[in-house]
Amino acid sequence: MRLNGKTALVTGAAGGIGYDIAARFAGEGARVAIADIDGDRAVHAAEQIQGDGGAAIALAMDVTDPDAVSDGVGQVAREFGTLDIAVSNAGVQHIESLDELDFESWRKVLAIHLDGAFLLTRHALRQMYTQGDGCLLYIGSVHSKVASPFKGPYVSAKHGLLGLCRTVAVEGAKHGVRANTICPGFVRTPLVDKQIPEQAAELGISEDAVIRDVMLKDTVDGEFTTTADVAEVAVDLAAFRSKALTGQSVVVSHGWHMA
Ligand code: NAD
Repeated sequence: MRLNGKTALVTGAAGGIGYDIAARFAGEGARVAIADIDGDRAVHAAEQIQGDGGAAIALAMDVTDPDAVSDGVGQVAREFGTLDIAVSNAGVQHIESLDELDFESWRKVLAIHLDGAFLLTRHALRQMYTQGDGCLLYIGSVHSKVASPFKGPYVSAKHGLLGLCRTVAVEGAKHGVRANTICPGFVRTPLVDKQIPEQAAELGISEDAVIRDVMLKDTVDGEFTTTADVAEVAVDLAAFRSKALTGQSVVVSHGWHMA
């Protein structure tokens, strides 16, 4: 098992991509903390992982709340002894053109993606620096690299994560900490299912056309990326054996974006 003896905290892990990353980490021998704003779903997710033979705890954590993030990281360090891997995954989407967008919606998306990533980073680094070792993973997006219409705050936040990740890579190196970003293409989770009808309404096209002509148009094979694909890359990055792999962004998108 590739993560035997490691401990991990994954935000937004009650479902979707975060859950699969946490479950896969547990399957590779890590003890995992499921952190989510929805505490009940976090408990359910942790129980599912325990039922599959993994070691998991649940944390009710709003990533935009500095005290909740501080408490959550502290609890993991107390219960597990270390925090080896921290995954900033919690996220939301908001579909609206920039000229119509209200400031509150802009701030909400930026707060969850960027403020949340910063708060997790700050507290994880404080713990990892005492250990002299650690791995930060950020769930970016193809929208860390390209823009699409009606996703202004999301695209801006996802681009920002690359800067945060690279800063962690340069500051963390002397403490043995690596940082990398995973940039998935479209994955069928609640985050995407919600935006299909919203995009259809914005564009005046059918939901099938949104999937075929917008979401998957530029992939090499017309396929969605899966939560399992993203989890596989997360294990590869977390388990990497040297400090050589840091400050990078790995795109997993069926070739939608190639760079
Ligand atoms: P999802 O909606 O299935 O899961 C998101 C999780 O985040 C939920 O469990 C939700 O409760 C939690 N969450 C929301 N706000 C939170 C907060 N303030 N504090 C803590 N938890 C919070 O979405 P997903 O598709 O699994 O997305 C996970 C990440 O992957 C996001 O960062 C998203 O931007 C990114 N991503 C998704 C896709 C995709 O196509 N689904 C593609 C690229 C990147």
